Amino acid sequence: NSIDILRDTIKPYNAEDSEKFKTIVEFECRGLEPVDFQPQEISYFQFPGELLMRMLKMLILPLVVSSLMSGLAALDAKTSSRLGIITVTYYLWTTFVAVIVGIIMVSIIHPGGAAQKENTEESGKPIMSSADALLDLIRNMFPANLVEATFKQYRTKSIPIVKSNKAASESTTRRIIIYGVQDENGSNVQNFALDITPPPEVIYKSEPGTSDGMNVLGIVIFSATMGIMLGRMGNSGVPLVSFCQCLNESVMKIVAVSVWYFPFGIVFLIAGKILEMDDPTAIGKKLGFYAITVVCGLVVHGLFILPMMYFFITKKNPIVFIRGILQALLIALATSSSSATLPITFKCLLENNHVDRRIARFVLPVGATINMDGTALYEAVAAIFIAQVNNYELDFGQIITISITATAASIGAAGIPQAGLVTMVIVLTSVGLPTDDITLIIAVDWALDRFRTMINVLGDALAAGIMAHVCRKEFTKDGDEVPLICDTK
Ligand code: ASP
Repeated sequence: NSIDILRDTIKPYNAEDSEKFKTIVEFECRGLEPVDFQPQEISYFQFPGELLMRMLKMLILPLVVSSLMSGLAALDAKTSSRLGIITVTYYLWTTFVAVIVGIIMVSIIHPGGAAQKENTEESGKPIMSSADALLDLIRNMFPANLVEATFKQYRTKSIPIVKSNKAASESTTRRIIIYGVQDENGSNVQNFALDITPPPEVIYKSEPGTSDGMNVLGIVIFSATMGIMLGRMGNSGVPLVSFCQCLNESVMKIVAVSVWYFPFGIVFLIAGKILEMDDPTAIGKKLGFYAITVVCGLVVHGLFILPMMYFFITKKNPIVFIRGILQALLIALATSSSSATLPITFKCLLENNHVDRRIARFVLPVGATINMDGTALYEAVAAIFIAQVNNYELDFGQIITISITATAASIGAAGIPQAGLVTMVIVLTSVGLPTDDITLIIAVDWALDRFRTMINVLGDALAAGIMAHVCRKEFTKDGDEVPLICDTK
């Protein structure tokens, strides 16, 4: 209440600053309240989960490179181009279907309908245009430095430029308020100084840059090209292909051993995330409806549409197939990363579902990079939700634009946590929606990310099952066409 009195004192002079003042005081006061867990304690608690993420990430690079190079080299040119064309077409088709499911769901449930737009942050904050996002996607396909691509990817950055300092030009006086916070007995607990001088105006310009994280897309493109070329080289390519096969086998053996640690890591990964949140239950009604819409869409796509496609194409029981990949789905839920889940998806498909390893070696890494049904569905729902919150009527042409750009944005998203949130600017800018409004959905994104990653992984795994059926004639039952180096005497 004393905060309100102070705010009312300032109000007659400057209404805007008085609100800012209240927010800052409240924020400072929160810092004085006792908290259950200190950040340091939480980080110790999260350590077992961090180890799980580290183990999985460690395996991505050798797995992607070895599986694509040996997988594609083992196929003749005709088979690899047929498998490539069918796989990519199937991926695009299922992603597009996922977007349509999302659009239908969000139109029926209408989560943003009665919503009031929340205050977003001030204007002038960094914005990446869809052209920048598209250029980043293409840059990432062609990494200039392969070593750097193992830990960095291209990401356009917004550089702040101070345009003018109105405060300095209009008045040389800084406006500072000094205030104290008292406890119930009226004694001063702490004093604060608040500078309410208007900040200088800042505009942003975008400049190509890099961000941390493996450029999986670049590595996939390079490894796939190398694999195809090695296949064409015939006998002279055998040593490198055999090396990649050995590498692939040994990585899979590491996966088999580390799998014992995973249940332990998963529990700490999820519990650590919940501890980190201020109040996990404090999700507004409209965000709740939005989250329900995304989850319903994911359930329809993942439990009905994808399994039905699998059933109609292969005439096999999808439930049996899905049972075989449950472990991978759990890892996807825990890690929110389809790339990190890749080693386990491989293991499940080879050991439980007996998918031909040459198919898995191509279909899975490509899928983890470009096939994200869950992400595409979520991007479409989120964009239309933001339009609904803004009372913005989308016409048919704009809905079509959203479906195409959501498909493209999901292809551009990396298989890492919350990558979809970043590529959503492509969808929003394509129909003129405010990109700042991404802040509306951030609160629930950590949870939705886990569910959409599960559907991304499910989509890749079912695709491998379908490709194994469709291309069964080209593949003999066992083994690789190129013998291991130890066999070539
Ligand atoms: N986390 C997702 C994945 O790894 C990508 C995303 O939608 O953010 O598949």
